[in-house]
Amino acid sequence: FDEREGTIWFDGAMVPWREAKIHVLTHGLHYGSAVFEGERAYGGRIFKSLEHSERLRRSAQLLDFEIPYSVAEIEAAKELVLKTSGLTEAYLRPVAWRGSEMMGVAAQQNTIHLAIAAWEWPSYFDPATKMKGIRLDIADYRRPDPRTAPSTSKAAGLYMICTISKHRAENKGYADALMLDWEDNVAECTGANVFFIRDGVIHTPNADRFLNGLTRQTVIDLARRRGFEVVERRIRPEEMEGFAECFITGSAAEVTPVAEIGPYRFTPGAMTKTLMDDYLAEVQPKANAA
Ligand code: PMP
Repeated sequence: FDEREGTIWFDGAMVPWREAKIHVLTHGLHYGSAVFEGERAYGGRIFKSLEHSERLRRSAQLLDFEIPYSVAEIEAAKELVLKTSGLTEAYLRPVAWRGSEMMGVAAQQNTIHLAIAAWEWPSYFDPATKMKGIRLDIADYRRPDPRTAPSTSKAAGLYMICTISKHRAENKGYADALMLDWEDNVAECTGANVFFIRDGVIHTPNADRFLNGLTRQTVIDLARRRGFEVVERRIRPEEMEGFAECFITGSAAEVTPVAEIGPYRFTPGAMTKTLMDDYLAEVQPKANAA
């Protein structure tokens, strides 16, 4: 991914893609002191940009560091990156990390860096194919207890077990893995939140112990606007037996129907389709927006 044309915003400067490099003794690399965002632009507008910038700063604070750019500065930087890229349908990746001045667990004095890249990512949408649903494995690893890690931060370190779980799932032919929490409740996927539908009611795990996705929050709002009941609660894995529909949500995944999770089967249906369509309408820049 580093051998590309383009420009990356790096500590306030626009640098050629191939030259956006860091030192091997970077604290973020050794000790996981890094946080990031994943956001998407539709029609040249970054969906929920402000919320992503705020979350980035909050994620860093949960890791005990302060990003040396305000939300307004991060917003301006993202706009510049998107404009310079010439893309309208894009994925944006801001990442912040502790630098390389000191080597050791404690590194209070290390400079905090911020970089922002954007690349092309069209919103792939072939409803017929998507409605078949993806297949998920159930991961061996659990989402960590909030007493074990800052579980609600979008911290790079929390993705260590996501990468392992996703690799294991892919090796078995699955698209992704569902992760349980430390108490064995249903939690989320390796990069997306999860929803279930039964008797016209939507059920999703409480997001107090993993990332409360912005897509998750958007879909809950859209569902309630439709008059659908949404219940946020603890969900036991055995309950998956009784759910009719399932889908996952994320900035990258958007609303993706699920057909299988381990031994459980779902049939993506009308409510999932409605929420997929509502989400894709919601992310489009509004013609009359200021
Ligand atoms: N959970 C995890 C672990 C994720 O990486 C993501 C993607 N950022 C999500 C949930 C969904 O978050 P969002 O809807 O804000 O993209």
